[in-house]
Amino acid sequence: MKNVLIIPALLAFASAAFAQKDANALKYAGVITPEDAKKHLSVLASDAFEGRETGKPGAEKAAAYIAGEFQKLGLEAPVNGAYLQPIRLRESTTTFTMTANGQPCRVGYEAYIPDVYTDRHLEASEVVFVGYGTSKELGELDLGGKVVVWINEDIPRPGIPANTDLQPSEARGRVIMELAKRRPAAVLAINRQLSGMLDKYRAGLMDAQMSLESDFQQIPGPMFFFGTDSLADALLRRSGKRYLDLRSAAGSENFARVVACDLRMSYSVATKQLAASNVLGFLPGRDLKNEVLVISAHYDHEGLTGNATGDKVNNGADDDASGTTGMIEIARAFSEAKKSGHGPRRSILFLANVGEEKGLLGSQFYVENPVFPLSSTIADLNIDMIGRVGYDYAGKNDSANYVYTVGSAMLSSELKKINETANSTYSGLKLDYKYDAPDDPEKIYYRSDHYNFAKNGIPVIFFTNGEHADYHKPSDEVNKINFPLLVKRTKLIFYTSWELANRDTRPVVDVQ
Ligand SMILES: [Zn+2]
Repeated sequence: MKNVLIIPALLAFASAAFAQKDANALKYAGVITPEDAKKHLSVLASDAFEGRETGKPGAEKAAAYIAGEFQKLGLEAPVNGAYLQPIRLRESTTTFTMTANGQPCRVGYEAYIPDVYTDRHLEASEVVFVGYGTSKELGELDLGGKVVVWINEDIPRPGIPANTDLQPSEARGRVIMELAKRRPAAVLAINRQLSGMLDKYRAGLMDAQMSLESDFQQIPGPMFFFGTDSLADALLRRSGKRYLDLRSAAGSENFARVVACDLRMSYSVATKQLAASNVLGFLPGRDLKNEVLVISAHYDHEGLTGNATGDKVNNGADDDASGTTGMIEIARAFSEAKKSGHGPRRSILFLANVGEEKGLLGSQFYVENPVFPLSSTIADLNIDMIGRVGYDYAGKNDSANYVYTVGSAMLSSELKKINETANSTYSGLKLDYKYDAPDDPEKIYYRSDHYNFAKNGIPVIFFTNGEHADYHKPSDEVNKINFPLLVKRTKLIFYTSWELANRDTRPVVDVQ
């Protein structure tokens, strides 16, 4: 009996998952080819573009190339008649020196300062170790003008693994607010994961920081920055105890203690203004043309390395010349469709973002200065790194037949289904949802331009192959790109776009 009941349900599922193929979608997907993809990617990732660093001539060359391609395809120039959306940026370079009991502390090795502060010089003869910083530990202790050493981890509870993430939890966020109210001079947030993070991302973290000009500020108040366990040891040495021993004793009533320390710190910032541009190409729709689908990719990358010997150019063939190429190919397919009288019902904005590597700045600027109302923007399909095989799939049988789809059900369960149906109907890729896990340590969902759309309640899908050994290195070269794989993934994004641009209703936002 049971089996009989199961069979119709399975059939219903199967018929829902495999829609009928649309002959036009198939026809125009055929426009997307490895040869054409190679042509664009080889220009974008060439040494002549010098790694396309935001604010540098290489990025301007890339922007001009993309605008030229949009023009050839007959896309409209939607920024008051231009393809380029100009953005004013501010770059800041920090000089920081610090010694704790004679031991030097280096930014990028023992410390990391995520924000920009007013210039300051500080000397102290003591620090206050506040444990986890709870009011129970602090009691009435005066922190005014003091240097505070704080455990930036959640308090361990018996039987539950403690959250030791570098990014403060909500509970820790409240502790930070409480500490700030007591007006310390500085708070060193000690975290066990920092050392590994610095090893992995050092090169990027040591660079000058960039922000939108409209966002730039030098914070005048207490300076909050991250430190490693070894920095904590240097600061607390005169207590006669190691940081790890003090940490395991923390949490009790009136735990906070003053520790003698010879501390000298000096911090200053030099800034300069820079200009950069997003590149926008617009394909107007038909009967639903007031609704806009965004297809985005960032064209900027890391520029030249300071390393004088060997290959200096961070070509960013995969990151993200591959996504930019995929976006141009999708624009080509829709343009062909439109020329033959099969243009999409909704409008499509092709958005090539700048400043992604500097902190998702181009997409932030776009959502703060949208050319089309965000309320009419139905979804963002963002493409960042689709030409390679990432760590998890290297050498596996299915290595050339997967893509990570990130965030597709974060705001709209319908969007995920649309993408899955497009895939089962046309592409047959393995869709990997690994990075949708809420505890994903790599935080991939927050690490590309779609996030700025998601923050504004716009459903997104982020397509990526994941990191590999050449990630953010000069060896991310054109000759390592798998063009048939790039095309296969691009076609899936095209089929999903085709459905989104042509179906009767926009994807419902049904997840809070
Ligand atoms: Zn990158």
